[in-house]
Amino acid sequence: MREVRLKAMAKINLGLDVVRKREDGYHEVRMIMQTIRMYDQIRLRAVSEAGIKVRTNLSYLPCNEDNLVHKAAKLLMEEFEVREGLSIELKKYIPVAAGMAGGSSDAAAVMVGVNRMFGLGLTKAQLMERGVKIGADVPYCIMRGTVLAEGIGEILTPLPPMPKCHVLIAKPGIHVSTKFVYGGLHLDEVTVHPDIDGQAAAIKAGDLNEAARLMGNVLESVTVSTYPVIDEIKEFMVQHGALGAMMSGSGPTVFGLFEDERTAKRAYEKLRRGKLAKQVFLTSIFNIGGNTNER
Ligand code: ATP
Repeated sequence: MREVRLKAMAKINLGLDVVRKREDGYHEVRMIMQTIRMYDQIRLRAVSEAGIKVRTNLSYLPCNEDNLVHKAAKLLMEEFEVREGLSIELKKYIPVAAGMAGGSSDAAAVMVGVNRMFGLGLTKAQLMERGVKIGADVPYCIMRGTVLAEGIGEILTPLPPMPKCHVLIAKPGIHVSTKFVYGGLHLDEVTVHPDIDGQAAAIKAGDLNEAARLMGNVLESVTVSTYPVIDEIKEFMVQHGALGAMMSGSGPTVFGLFEDERTAKRAYEKLRRGKLAKQVFLTSIFNIGGNTNER
């Protein structure tokens, strides 16, 4: 195979709890992850000249080994001693540094693509084992769907699909580093933790309202006090009909879940016209059942 095209899908966290800080500095989490219909496009081409070349539509992203797509391709191509070269064309649409795992998803898609293109014969589980070396979210981005993630995010238990709903996404024009958020989290001071097991049970029961009611992200305890706009966007979404709204991952992106499409569209239009968010999208959740080949 000389060319492979892939969709690298974004995620949101329907719930995010931090359980403890490990001695090695990593945080142990319990999260419910959900793939959404928002994706970067990736085109891989085998070329005769050895080496990995990356091109992207965002001039400020690195094209060298710092780009996660480069890291992902290199990891597999070195292990399997692939002699050919690889050209990677990356069109980014997922907001960058937004808490939506854009880079991890790109890396996951490249691993799937390189495996397919060079006939490496790795199973999904074997790809996931290698993916965690690139980043804690990469195994999930290979698995996708509605998933309970534990450990540092790499211990994955698939859940039944989240009931269908519309997802309004808003990224305010601020930069929040993941390091700042986890560094500012003092678990002994956190009094309210999201009910991750309750939310998983609601999803299993197909109860969208209850799953949305139990949305919660312990990392908001760090970000909201410094960046009140995060709370303002959440409030806006709830006032405009969202069943629930929360910050995704370490932020600063906020999303709201809507049952009714017209209500979601109205909120989307209004948010786009206002000043709260710099980037606004309206999409829906992506479930892998029956559609496992969509990459
Ligand atoms: P997460 O939700 O996993 O915390 P994120 O959405 O906060 O991820 P990303 O968009 O994945 O963050 O990227 C964070 C940083 O990684 C960027 O600032 C960028 O410099 C670097 N990076 C490397 N490769 C990529 C890539 N393919 N796409 C986006 N960012 C990348």
